[in-house]
Amino acid sequence: MVAQKEIYGGLVRLHVLHHASHEPIYGQGMMDELAHHGYRLGPGTLYPILHALERSGHLRSTVEKSGRSIRKTYVATAAGRKALVQAKQRVWELFTELFEDELAQGPRLRAAGSRKVANDKGKE
Ligand SMILES: [Zn+2]
Repeated sequence: MVAQKEIYGGLVRLHVLHHASHEPIYGQGMMDELAHHGYRLGPGTLYPILHALERSGHLRSTVEKSGRSIRKTYVATAAGRKALVQAKQRVWELFTELFEDELAQGPRLRAAGSRKVANDKGKE
C-alpha cells in the first residue's frame, strides 16, 4: 500500500487540483470521487494532502456552516490553477509516452488494445 501511495500520490493531487479548479470540493465528496476512479483513500490520507496543498498556496479553504454541521470546502487558488495547467502538459507527455505503441497502431488496433487492457484487469 505504501508503494501504491507513492506511485499514485501525484495523480491524486492532480485530481484534487482539477476538481477544485472547477468547483468547491470537500473531503468526503473528494473521497467518493476518487473511489470512482479506483483510488480508495480514507480521511487519514486525503486530509493531509488537502492541508499540504493549502499550505503550499494551491488551495484555499472556507468553513461553511449549515445548521449545526460545519463543512470545510476548498477551491484552487490562481497558483493552483497555474500549477494544474503546467502539470497537464506533463501528464499529456507522459500519456503519449505510456501509450506510444497504442497511439502508433491507429484506431482499429487501438480498440483491440483497450479490450486487452480490460481482459488483463479482469484477471487480477
Ligand atoms: Zn477526478
